[in-house]
Amino acid sequence: MPQGQIFKAISGFYYVRTKEGEELECRARGVFKFEKKKVKPLVGDWVEVEKISEREGVVKAVLPRQTELLRPPIANVDQAIVVCSLKEPDFQQMPLDRFLVQAEKEGLDIVICLTKHDLVTDENEVEKICTVYEEAGYPVVITSVRTGHGIELLQAYLKDKVSVFAGQSGVGKSSLLNQLLPDLKLQTGEVSRKIGRGRHTTRQVELLLLPQGGQVADTPGFSQLSFQGMEIEELGACFPEISKKSISCRFRGCLHVNEPDCAVREAVESGKMNAERYQHYLQFLQEMKEQKRRY
Ligand code: GDP
Ligand code: ZN
Repeated sequence: MPQGQIFKAISGFYYVRTKEGEELECRARGVFKFEKKKVKPLVGDWVEVEKISEREGVVKAVLPRQTELLRPPIANVDQAIVVCSLKEPDFQQMPLDRFLVQAEKEGLDIVICLTKHDLVTDENEVEKICTVYEEAGYPVVITSVRTGHGIELLQAYLKDKVSVFAGQSGVGKSSLLNQLLPDLKLQTGEVSRKIGRGRHTTRQVELLLLPQGGQVADTPGFSQLSFQGMEIEELGACFPEISKKSISCRFRGCLHVNEPDCAVREAVESGKMNAERYQHYLQFLQEMKEQKRRY
């Protein structure tokens, strides 16, 4: 039976790209059982289809999922491109760190994309930002859709993977997607999007094939985050420099707040871990504790 991946779902139909490169329109047969759980197919799911004509099929089974995002609802995403602008708005480390934790929690590969390089006047600032995040363990790409700077490198990271874009609104996610997919034509800029909001809310997410291979969700992705569903003990693992062997704290269950001999706090004091990143770790921990108290 042919296997394929759902790339689009619209009112009772699933659109499946088979491994052979065919696109089949499949009628949805409701819910599938998978490992005793009921599973409703999602965009991104690998499925088994029975072909019933040249262009039509029936979804017979949903294969196990590697990852599952809720907003946007997509299965089997490999990678998040976490986007933050260098200017307009000015670079802010706090929202970036928040998105990174969220993407880490989902178990995704991560690439940081710093946009609007054409507006930068002080390259030293950019250098400093890159150093912080590269030392934390992330690949960083600097882009501009005005000059084309960094677009090829970004394309190289997207190749052969299923990626989503995430980041605050206004940082340039739609502009990047338009650049990567010339047929897409997403609206860019806050103003135009507010006017067109009504039409946009019902649009379903679709996985689009990139010209050089790989797929990307045709939506600016998750732009708001909470730590709901996350345990306090899991936060450290969402900071690669904390979970990294070189710093790894030898105390089980250490939250790296004020425990004596904590290796993470020592790393911050000796400059091995960025102090702002550590401050944000503490703040997220606090937020999670407060969230717990409220529910
Ligand atoms: P989104 O909300 O993250 O999807 O951001 P948009 O793609 O809508 O971009 C927000 C604004 O930033 C728009 O006015 C874009 O034209 C502008 N913009 C996006 N990328 C760049 C860039 O590389 N350079 C400059 N100068 N402006 C950009
Ligand atoms: Zn510790």
